[in-house]
Amino acid sequence: MSAVRPLDTGPEMLVRRRLTSLGIRYRLHRYDLPGRPDIVMSSRRRVIFVHGCYWHRHPGCHKATMPARNERLWRDKFEKTVARDKLKRKALRAAGWQVLVVWECDVRNEPKLTRLLQRFLAPSE
Ligand SMILES: [Zn+2]
Repeated sequence: MSAVRPLDTGPEMLVRRRLTSLGIRYRLHRYDLPGRPDIVMSSRRRVIFVHGCYWHRHPGCHKATMPARNERLWRDKFEKTVARDKLKRKALRAAGWQVLVVWECDVRNEPKLTRLLQRFLAPSE
């Protein structure tokens, strides 16, 4: 699934634009980091994943529906994706990165997105 995932999807572009308007500099898809995060702010040691609610199973989200057919197969696929996402976050945190997951449905809510990003990017300590 991740192999065929298109780069520069809509939600990701919106997050990038918001970061730019907040004056945040970032890089994209650093291959040298675990899980190849969508957006990387190296000097802040922070990375962002922009996740589609359906494929990445946003908990409690109405977009994370289950297909009516082949439910077991899909459930298995989804579980693998969620487990893989979790491992990526764990590996990044272990390497000293702070990780934010921005869900597709939050991207469309501009005030919420701005709040999420500002809180995440505020200096820690
Ligand atoms: Zn969602």
